[in-house]
Amino acid sequence: MSTPHVLVVNAGSSSLKYSLVDATTGETPGDGLVERIGESSSTLVHQGPGGGTRTEGAVADHEAAFRLALDAFGEHGPDLAAYDVVAVGHRVVHGGEHFSQPVVITDEVIEAVTDLIPLAPLHNPANLSGIAGARALFPDLPHVAIFDTAFHQTLPPHAYTYAVPRDWVREHGIRRYGFHGTSFSFVSQAAADLLGKPLAEVNLVVAHLGNGASISAVRGGESVETSMGMTPLEGLVMGTRSGDVDPALHAHLHRELGWSLDEIDRILNRESGLKGLAGENDFREVLRLRDAGDPAASLAFDVFCHRLRKYVGAYYAVLGEVDAIVFTGGVGENAAPVRSASLAGLSRLGITVDGTLNEGRVAGPHAISPANSAVAVLVVPTNEEWEIARQSVAALP
Ligand code: ADP
Repeated sequence: MSTPHVLVVNAGSSSLKYSLVDATTGETPGDGLVERIGESSSTLVHQGPGGGTRTEGAVADHEAAFRLALDAFGEHGPDLAAYDVVAVGHRVVHGGEHFSQPVVITDEVIEAVTDLIPLAPLHNPANLSGIAGARALFPDLPHVAIFDTAFHQTLPPHAYTYAVPRDWVREHGIRRYGFHGTSFSFVSQAAADLLGKPLAEVNLVVAHLGNGASISAVRGGESVETSMGMTPLEGLVMGTRSGDVDPALHAHLHRELGWSLDEIDRILNRESGLKGLAGENDFREVLRLRDAGDPAASLAFDVFCHRLRKYVGAYYAVLGEVDAIVFTGGVGENAAPVRSASLAGLSRLGITVDGTLNEGRVAGPHAISPANSAVAVLVVPTNEEWEIARQSVAALP
């Protein structure tokens, strides 16, 4: 097929997500997920034109995972040779201050991403391992890195600077970077399209609420504030992450209970958020328990929405004028009670959610505010794979 396609890759520490994406239309003729890489019981779920298949077996590393994926393409389709595959697009979590744009991967790029490992000790090594595996199997294709942080490199100094000794930023890179940039980029453009205005002329508050969650103030297509910081722990309440806590918490727990910093870090990243409060990190479960009268789930929901509401108010003030508040991600796109609770009572700010529109099941981008609202409230499904495919093609020489 003649339209350019990109093999989009998202490598986690023990997983590999891949999809063949038409960069022009976003269509995905084939995709898959390898999980439990490095264990004896790895699984591959592959989706091709003929339906899905599941394979089990030992997958040692990302290179072996790609080999398995290629076998699945060969056996179950789609036939990669039938497409004009122009690049492999890799999601890379942390680009630090070094990367404000997608880049074609060279040995220098690998070196720079390696240097950034201290800022993302869990994510960047996994991304690098995915890149190495893919380069081994697709040596003739250009590989492009798309950074979660790049979209936020437009943050002004007063937004990215922590009030800590000023040498820390220069010597140790201690500053706010922000994440979910691929999603914010895609959703901002789609929201502007829905509003019928050029992206350069709209001010948006975009809430990406998935397992991870963050919110951004986007002025004229550029991020000017975002809730995640040096790491993805800061900001909103998430599936398993606490979001904002008193920065003295670590010292207190360490001093009073003798917990190691690694253990505290693990708990705040993996055992907190909705999981810590409600025992469940899946938002559907939280809603189900809340509806059943579970007080812990009810409090978790309230804390989640209250935190979100605080940020919406703060980012409204940062922007001064807001054209739309935009919800995206699995929770943002589907959980109507989160949208109504977090924006209730804000009509003086021009923000109103229409109950019927909010509860409606519309698939594509749509408004849930009344037609004459000063501030539109939108639901815009994100598509990070398509954005990675588009940005990969744009980055090619
Ligand atoms: P990720 O951050 O892993 O990409 P997603 O954006 O897919 O995650 O979001 C996953 C979250 O969305 C989960 O908490 C899931 O429960 C929630 N979610 C998905 N569908 C619904 C739904 N219909 N109602 C409420 N929450 C939902």
